[in-house]
Amino acid sequence: MPKIHTIDLNFQNGNESIATYLIETEQGPVLVDPGPYSTFENLKKGIENLGFNLIDVENILITHIHFDHAGAAWKFTEHGATIFVHPVGLPHLKNPEKLWESAKMIYGDSMDRLWGKMKPIDEEYLVPLGDGQTVEFGDTVFQTIYTPGHAVHHNAYVLDDVIFTGDVAGVKINNGPVAPPCPPPDINIELWKQSINKLRKVNAKGIYPTHYGLHENVEEHFTQLENELDDWANYMKPMYDDKLSPEEITPIFVDYIIKKYKDQGLSADEIQVYEYANPTWMSVNGLLRYWKLKEQGRI
Ligand SMILES: [Zn+2]
Repeated sequence: MPKIHTIDLNFQNGNESIATYLIETEQGPVLVDPGPYSTFENLKKGIENLGFNLIDVENILITHIHFDHAGAAWKFTEHGATIFVHPVGLPHLKNPEKLWESAKMIYGDSMDRLWGKMKPIDEEYLVPLGDGQTVEFGDTVFQTIYTPGHAVHHNAYVLDDVIFTGDVAGVKINNGPVAPPCPPPDINIELWKQSINKLRKVNAKGIYPTHYGLHENVEEHFTQLENELDDWANYMKPMYDDKLSPEEITPIFVDYIIKKYKDQGLSADEIQVYEYANPTWMSVNGLLRYWKLKEQGRI
């Protein structure tokens, strides 16, 4: 088993909300999810603290193209690094304008502060990886599992008996609860549960969600995630049926989740870290869209 390091990107100057994983291979350090460009300097420091230089990083695996996972990838292609990504996500890394514009509708003027810039990546640096495909770096082999539900362009990567799960295994920070990030536009609870079952079949001894770090109670984690997915979605459904506006629903939903976090034993500081990793308000539109598409029979 190669060495796996967790680099804290210190997003928003906090601790342990977004991780990049660095895996030591015979072909140099491989990164899983380089994070947003806004934390690039922290990533650079993290890589150097492990005894490597930026230009040693020749290969990067992207779990999915959300800014907090893939935003900094373009920077590594300046020295020729190869970026591996699901084929549905690949065109958006090549032409990130659409991604940027749709995120801007959510984040407005905070885009630069939160995520930093995202430049187009030339196609020659992008390699698509679909379900079941493997990629080898010397004797280190990653196997791709296509895992939609959180995002249609989501891959998880198996390395020996651990899985890098991106967002498909939800968010869990230290010993806190498992929380499902449900941003628009791709949330699909049924597909997400199918993806969890695909991950179960790996019988992994550990999972590395991007938010945050290694978790070893894998089955318990997946069960909690399924329960929370149902809870978040089902809490939203009657409000969708009442046809309240997202603006009306957001404070109600946020109160519900914050209370839940408190009941699950999180302190105010710990809730803040969860909110950095997975802003609760973002899930309102994601889940409303899910119920709408379901009502229309489109999913
Ligand atoms: Zn995501």
